[in-house]
Amino acid sequence: MNKKIFSENCNLSSYTTIKVGGVAEYFAEPRSIKEFSYLIKWANLNKQRCQIIGAGSNLLINNIFIKGLVVCTKKLKSLKIEPYSGIIEAEAGVMLPTLSNSLAKNGLQGGEWAVGIPGTLGGAIYMNAGTGNLSLAKNLISVKVINNKTHEKLEIEKKDINFEYRFNIINQVLVVFLKILKIIMQQN
Ligand SMILES: Cc1cc2nc3c(=O)[nH]c(=O)nc-3n(C[C@H](O)[C@H](O)[C@H](O)COP(=O)(O)OP(=O)(O)OC[C@H]3O[C@@H](n4cnc5c(N)ncnc54)[C@H](O)[C@@H]3O)c2cc1C
Repeated sequence: MNKKIFSENCNLSSYTTIKVGGVAEYFAEPRSIKEFSYLIKWANLNKQRCQIIGAGSNLLINNIFIKGLVVCTKKLKSLKIEPYSGIIEAEAGVMLPTLSNSLAKNGLQGGEWAVGIPGTLGGAIYMNAGTGNLSLAKNLISVKVINNKTHEKLEIEKKDINFEYRFNIINQVLVVFLKILKIIMQQN
Protein backbone atom coordinates (compact mmCIF):
# COMPACT_ATOMS: atom_id res chain seq x y z
CA MET A 1 0.00 0.00 0.00
CA ASN A 2 1.84 3.10 -1.10
CA LYS A 3 -0.98 5.64 -1.45
CA LYS A 4 -1.01 8.40 1.14
CA ILE A 5 -3.80 7.62 3.53
CA PHE A 6 -3.28 10.37 6.07
CA SER A 7 -3.63 14.14 6.06
CA GLU A 8 -1.38 16.71 7.69
CA ASN A 9 -2.19 19.47 10.19
CA CYS A 10 -5.72 18.28 10.88
CA ASN A 11 -7.91 20.16 13.34
CA LEU A 12 -9.35 17.56 15.73
CA SER A 13 -12.24 19.69 17.00
CA SER A 14 -14.67 18.09 14.59
CA TYR A 15 -13.66 14.65 15.87
CA THR A 16 -14.75 15.16 19.49
CA THR A 17 -18.26 15.36 20.92
CA ILE A 18 -17.71 18.72 22.58
CA LYS A 19 -15.93 20.11 19.50
CA VAL A 20 -12.64 21.08 21.10
CA GLY A 21 -9.27 19.75 20.04
CA GLY A 22 -5.83 20.71 18.86
CA VAL A 23 -4.15 20.21 15.50
CA ALA A 24 -2.72 16.76 14.73
CA GLU A 25 0.51 16.69 12.76
CA TYR A 26 -0.75 13.59 10.91
CA PHE A 27 -4.30 12.28 10.91
CA ALA A 28 -5.94 9.24 9.37
CA GLU A 29 -9.29 7.47 9.26
CA PRO A 30 -8.55 3.93 8.00
CA ARG A 31 -11.36 2.09 6.22
CA SER A 32 -9.98 -1.40 6.76
CA ILE A 33 -7.93 -3.35 9.26
CA LYS A 34 -5.23 -3.57 6.58
CA GLU A 35 -5.02 0.25 6.42
CA PHE A 36 -5.11 0.46 10.22
CA SER A 37 -2.19 -1.99 10.51
CA TYR A 38 -0.31 -0.09 7.85
CA LEU A 39 -0.69 3.20 9.75
CA ILE A 40 0.55 1.73 13.01
CA LYS A 41 3.51 0.25 11.20
CA TRP A 42 4.16 3.55 9.41
CA ALA A 43 4.18 5.45 12.72
CA ASN A 44 6.56 2.95 14.22
CA LEU A 45 8.97 2.86 11.32
CA ASN A 46 9.00 6.66 11.19
CA LYS A 47 9.36 6.97 14.97
CA GLN A 48 6.09 8.88 15.26
CA ARG A 49 3.84 8.65 18.29
CA CYS A 50 0.56 6.98 17.33
CA GLN A 51 -2.62 7.82 19.27
CA ILE A 52 -6.04 6.28 18.71
CA ILE A 53 -9.39 8.02 18.99
CA GLY A 54 -12.87 6.62 18.51
CA ALA A 55 -15.87 8.96 18.48
CA GLY A 56 -14.10 11.43 20.80
CA SER A 57 -16.99 11.34 23.30
CA ASN A 58 -14.70 10.94 26.28
CA LEU A 59 -11.92 13.26 25.17
CA LEU A 60 -10.93 16.79 26.17
CA ILE A 61 -8.08 17.53 23.76
CA ASN A 62 -5.83 20.49 24.50
CA ASN A 63 -5.86 23.23 21.88
CA ILE A 64 -2.23 22.62 20.97
CA PHE A 65 -0.15 21.14 18.12
CA ILE A 66 -0.11 17.37 18.58
CA LYS A 67 3.03 15.79 17.19
CA GLY A 68 2.77 12.40 15.53
CA LEU A 69 -0.12 10.44 14.12
CA VAL A 70 -3.72 10.42 15.37
CA VAL A 71 -5.83 7.56 14.01
CA CYS A 72 -9.62 7.78 14.21
CA THR A 73 -11.36 4.38 14.02
CA LYS A 74 -14.82 5.64 13.08
CA LYS A 75 -14.66 4.29 9.54
CA LEU A 76 -13.89 0.76 10.75
CA LYS A 77 -17.53 -0.15 10.99
CA SER A 78 -18.04 -3.70 9.81
CA LEU A 79 -20.65 -5.40 12.01
CA LYS A 80 -21.63 -9.06 11.68
CA ILE A 81 -24.44 -10.43 13.82
CA GLU A 82 -25.25 -14.12 13.93
CA PRO A 83 -28.86 -13.99 15.21
CA TYR A 84 -29.11 -17.68 16.18
CA SER A 85 -25.94 -17.90 18.27
CA GLY A 86 -25.96 -14.25 19.34
CA ILE A 87 -22.33 -13.99 18.35
CA ILE A 88 -21.32 -10.56 17.06
CA GLU A 89 -18.10 -9.58 15.36
CA ALA A 90 -17.67 -5.84 15.20
CA GLU A 91 -14.86 -3.55 14.20
CA ALA A 92 -13.61 -0.93 16.62
CA GLY A 93 -15.41 2.01 15.00
CA VAL A 94 -18.96 0.64 15.26
CA MET A 95 -21.01 3.09 17.32
CA LEU A 96 -22.74 1.78 20.44
CA PRO A 97 -26.21 3.06 19.35
CA THR A 98 -25.72 1.30 15.98
CA LEU A 99 -24.89 -1.94 17.79
CA SER A 100 -27.86 -1.51 20.10
CA ASN A 101 -30.30 -0.92 17.22
CA SER A 102 -28.85 -3.76 15.14
CA LEU A 103 -29.22 -6.19 18.06
CA ALA A 104 -32.88 -5.19 18.49
CA LYS A 105 -33.53 -5.61 14.75
CA ASN A 106 -32.11 -9.13 15.00
CA GLY A 107 -34.31 -9.95 17.99
CA LEU A 108 -31.42 -10.04 20.46
CA GLN A 109 -31.66 -8.63 23.98
CA GLY A 110 -28.83 -7.22 26.05
CA GLY A 111 -27.66 -4.13 24.19
CA GLU A 112 -30.43 -1.70 25.18
CA TRP A 113 -28.28 0.10 27.76
CA ALA A 114 -25.85 1.26 25.04
CA VAL A 115 -28.38 3.11 22.86
CA GLY A 116 -27.62 6.56 24.35
CA ILE A 117 -23.83 6.35 24.62
CA PRO A 118 -22.17 8.28 21.77
CA GLY A 119 -18.97 6.21 21.63
CA THR A 120 -17.41 3.47 19.52
CA LEU A 121 -16.91 -0.14 20.55
CA GLY A 122 -13.14 0.32 20.69
CA GLY A 123 -13.53 3.30 23.01
CA ALA A 124 -16.10 1.39 25.04
CA ILE A 125 -13.70 -1.50 25.62
CA TYR A 126 -10.92 0.89 26.58
CA MET A 127 -13.22 2.81 28.95
CA ASN A 128 -15.15 -0.29 30.09
CA ALA A 129 -18.31 1.62 29.22
CA GLY A 130 -21.64 0.76 30.75
CA THR A 131 -24.60 1.93 32.76
CA GLY A 132 -25.23 0.82 36.33
CA ASN A 133 -24.40 -2.88 36.51
CA LEU A 134 -24.54 -3.36 32.76
CA SER A 135 -21.40 -3.07 30.67
CA LEU A 136 -19.85 -4.15 27.42
CA ALA A 137 -17.40 -6.29 29.37
CA LYS A 138 -20.25 -8.52 30.57
CA ASN A 139 -20.97 -9.76 27.04
CA LEU A 140 -17.45 -9.81 25.78
CA ILE A 141 -15.81 -13.00 24.51
CA SER A 142 -12.55 -11.57 23.18
CA VAL A 143 -10.90 -8.58 21.57
CA LYS A 144 -8.46 -8.51 18.71
CA VAL A 145 -5.64 -6.06 19.07
CA ILE A 146 -2.50 -4.93 17.31
CA ASN A 147 0.72 -4.74 19.21
CA ASN A 148 1.89 -1.20 18.57
CA LYS A 149 5.56 -2.15 18.71
CA THR A 150 5.73 -5.49 16.89
CA HIS A 151 2.57 -4.96 14.76
CA GLU A 152 1.58 -8.48 15.74
CA LYS A 153 -2.16 -9.17 15.78
CA LEU A 154 -3.39 -10.86 18.96
CA GLU A 155 -6.69 -12.10 20.27
CA ILE A 156 -7.21 -11.55 24.00
CA GLU A 157 -9.95 -13.40 25.82
CA LYS A 158 -12.14 -11.66 28.34
CA LYS A 159 -10.67 -13.69 31.24
CA ASP A 160 -7.28 -12.14 30.46
CA ILE A 161 -8.59 -8.56 30.63
CA ASN A 162 -8.80 -7.13 34.11
CA PHE A 163 -11.83 -4.86 33.75
CA GLU A 164 -12.37 -2.34 36.51
CA TYR A 165 -15.14 0.24 37.00
CA ARG A 166 -15.23 2.24 33.72
CA PHE A 167 -11.66 1.22 32.96
CA ASN A 168 -9.59 -1.88 32.41
CA ILE A 169 -6.13 -2.47 33.69
CA ILE A 170 -4.85 -4.18 30.56
CA ASN A 171 -5.18 -0.95 28.63
CA GLN A 172 -3.91 1.19 31.48
CA VAL A 173 -0.73 -0.87 31.42
CA LEU A 174 -0.57 -1.87 27.78
CA VAL A 175 -2.33 0.91 25.88
CA VAL A 176 0.96 2.04 24.48
CA PHE A 177 1.12 -0.99 22.29
CA LEU A 178 -2.33 -2.53 22.12
CA LYS A 179 -5.10 -1.33 19.87
CA ILE A 180 -8.51 -2.87 19.77
CA LEU A 181 -9.86 -3.95 16.41
CA LYS A 182 -12.74 -6.27 16.97
CA ILE A 183 -14.95 -7.57 19.71
CA ILE A 184 -17.25 -10.52 19.83
CA MET A 185 -20.31 -10.49 22.06
CA GLN A 186 -22.85 -13.16 22.99
CA GLN A 187 -26.57 -12.97 23.64
CA ASN A 188 -27.55 -12.70 27.34
C1 LIG B 1 -23.64 12.41 26.24
C2 LIG B 1 -22.68 11.35 26.72
C3 LIG B 1 -23.18 10.26 27.44
C4 LIG B 1 -22.31 9.26 27.91
N1 LIG B 1 -22.84 8.23 28.62
C5 LIG B 1 -22.01 7.26 29.08
C6 LIG B 1 -22.54 6.16 29.85
O1 LIG B 1 -23.74 6.04 30.10
N2 LIG B 1 -21.66 5.21 30.26
C7 LIG B 1 -20.33 5.27 29.98
O2 LIG B 1 -19.60 4.36 30.37
N3 LIG B 1 -19.82 6.32 29.29
C8 LIG B 1 -20.62 7.31 28.83
N4 LIG B 1 -20.08 8.36 28.13
C9 LIG B 1 -18.64 8.42 27.91
C10 LIG B 1 -18.16 7.85 26.55
O3 LIG B 1 -19.17 7.90 25.58
C11 LIG B 1 -17.70 6.39 26.68
O4 LIG B 1 -16.60 6.31 27.55
C12 LIG B 1 -17.28 5.79 25.31
O5 LIG B 1 -17.10 4.41 25.48
C13 LIG B 1 -16.01 6.40 24.72
O6 LIG B 1 -15.89 5.91 23.39
P1 LIG B 1 -15.23 6.79 22.23
O7 LIG B 1 -15.22 5.99 20.99
O8 LIG B 1 -15.91 8.10 22.15
O9 LIG B 1 -13.77 6.96 22.80
P2 LIG B 1 -12.84 8.27 22.70
O10 LIG B 1 -13.46 9.35 23.53
O11 LIG B 1 -12.54 8.58 21.29
O12 LIG B 1 -11.54 7.73 23.42
C14 LIG B 1 -11.55 7.42 24.80
C15 LIG B 1 -10.27 6.62 25.14
O13 LIG B 1 -10.36 5.36 24.49
C16 LIG B 1 -9.18 5.13 23.70
N5 LIG B 1 -9.60 4.38 22.51
C17 LIG B 1 -10.59 4.69 21.63
N6 LIG B 1 -10.70 3.76 20.68
C18 LIG B 1 -9.73 2.83 20.95
C19 LIG B 1 -9.31 1.62 20.32
N7 LIG B 1 -9.90 1.15 19.22
N8 LIG B 1 -8.29 0.93 20.88
C20 LIG B 1 -7.68 1.38 22.00
N9 LIG B 1 -8.02 2.52 22.65
C21 LIG B 1 -9.03 3.23 22.12
C22 LIG B 1 -8.66 6.51 23.34
O14 LIG B 1 -7.27 6.49 23.09
C23 LIG B 1 -9.01 7.30 24.61
O15 LIG B 1 -7.99 7.13 25.57
C24 LIG B 1 -20.93 9.36 27.66
C25 LIG B 1 -20.43 10.45 26.92
C26 LIG B 1 -21.28 11.44 26.46
C27 LIG B 1 -20.72 12.61 25.69
